Amino acid sequence: MATGGHVAQGGPAAFPCPYCDFIGRRMDVHAHLVEAHGDELEWRVNEKLGYTYCVVTCPICGASHDQVLPRARGDPQFIEEYREQIYMVVFDLLLYHLQGEHGIGPPLT
Ligand SMILES: [Zn+2]
Ligand SMILES: [Zn+2]
Repeated sequence: MATGGHVAQGGPAAFPCPYCDFIGRRMDVHAHLVEAHGDELEWRVNEKLGYTYCVVTCPICGASHDQVLPRARGDPQFIEEYREQIYMVVFDLLLYHLQGEHGIGPPLT
């Protein structure tokens, strides 16, 4: 049992943001990443295939995960339109990585 004092924000399932000191539930951190840390993502284009990639790099171990966006084809309008959805997908990959590889946040079930 808790011995009084402060319960960490978000309780035992608290998930710290890997980029700043924000802490919250997984869904809160997910939303926070989308809102605040979109500039941590990198966009790359595979000219040969005409694919755009959105790449997220783990700030802890440097592993990178990418999400291929075959429909984007370097089209800035597409990226602008779907930016938030893309951020959500890519940051979800990062959160899974943090949980699975670094034991951060609630354990994966
Ligand atoms: Zn943050
Ligand atoms: Zn990592």
